[in-house]
Amino acid sequence: MCGSLPCSPSGSGHGESPFAAGLAEIRAGRRTLLKVGGAGLAFSTAVGGAAEASAAVPAGNRKRAYVLVVDGCSPGEIDGGQTPNLKALRDGGFHFPRASSMPVMETIPNHVMMMTGMRPDRTGVPSNSIYDRGLGEVRTMDRARDIKVDTVIQRLNRNGYKTGTVLSKEYLYGVFGARATHRWEPAPIVPISGHAPDEFTMQAATSMLQEFDPHLMFVNLGDIDRYGHTDFTGSSVQFSRRAALQKTDGLVGDFIELLKSTGRWRHSIVIVLADHSMDWSRSDRVISLQSSMDADPLLAGKVQIAANGGADLLYWTGSAGTKERAIKRMRSIALATPGVLSAPRRTDDWLRLGPNAGDVVVFCQAGWRFSDPDPVADNPIPGNHGHPATRPIPFFISGGHPRVPRRKASSAHARTVDVAPTLASFFGVGKPKKGWDGFARL
Ligand SMILES: [Zn+2]
Repeated sequence: MCGSLPCSPSGSGHGESPFAAGLAEIRAGRRTLLKVGGAGLAFSTAVGGAAEASAAVPAGNRKRAYVLVVDGCSPGEIDGGQTPNLKALRDGGFHFPRASSMPVMETIPNHVMMMTGMRPDRTGVPSNSIYDRGLGEVRTMDRARDIKVDTVIQRLNRNGYKTGTVLSKEYLYGVFGARATHRWEPAPIVPISGHAPDEFTMQAATSMLQEFDPHLMFVNLGDIDRYGHTDFTGSSVQFSRRAALQKTDGLVGDFIELLKSTGRWRHSIVIVLADHSMDWSRSDRVISLQSSMDADPLLAGKVQIAANGGADLLYWTGSAGTKERAIKRMRSIALATPGVLSAPRRTDDWLRLGPNAGDVVVFCQAGWRFSDPDPVADNPIPGNHGHPATRPIPFFISGGHPRVPRRKASSAHARTVDVAPTLASFFGVGKPKKGWDGFARL
């Protein structure tokens, strides 16, 4: 499973890894590979096809937008003293103190919301991990075809703008696939670990900027999340989390300095946000629902669970005729389980998760986590997200472009789904026929 772990290398139980799929595209001639510098950084560039511009950007258009995702960062951590650069960007720019991640508060769906401006019932991507009814197995949503709608990346490409993705996590590389004009190819330099350390990611972002200068660059920095997930004791959690915050902050500072020293800053917006925050649980606060479901005579053998850290997605696989009774039973068993916060029907309007999220969505209370189907092996790590406790995120817009308000806070409830409409508004590239689910925040 991949819901709460930093992610298995190739998702779970299906075909080739995203990196292997990317290399196959390069071999097939759909993208060309360019190696940069002594560090062996590799980028691929789209050849013709969908990524080719159908319109030309007016000459002299120097607008640039950079989206920096500090994966798993909590808003309060910006005030902890380890992140002077992030704090300066926040305080000097346009800050949204009420900002939040969206259900399910996991990495893949929130990055997809950022780049589509749409909720999961439209994007097709409700969580990191789903039970794929067609395949009959739980898998990671790491395939490029998992995103069912247009992204702002493609919208910009069609309008003649150049785009770039620098994504530190293999599943993000996978799900955004070949959409960007230029893509960092981490495979040649990073062992297939599911995650590249931030120094590599930022080096790639810097090189992409210098080499290709895309109008939009989408960067995921995974270290803060990774260190949150993998530490087991309270003091070491705090120590390595602080170290990760400090390091990532320094890298962000270097990047901003580069924008300034190369004259890009005054033409740029820099959107900094997290995809979710992080919550920690003790080893005696683990919820596992599979055995309870299987102990029930109605449900036994007919409930599949896709665990997503702080959220369990429950799928009824029995007959349609008993589905309604089964949903009621699943909900009542879940709600009677210690540590469970809520167990709404997936079809509840406010969730907007779509059918890939199953029939019942179970959220845990703060300080708990799910491990399913195996109560021990599937999720041994204390740091998790996906549940409401991990909704608050940092979200601020900086940059030297005149459209960015200075030293201002907004009372609006900004969300991850607002990133694409904000970018589209900044570049003036219109909106989807059925509109955005988010709002332009500039
Ligand atoms: Zn994340």
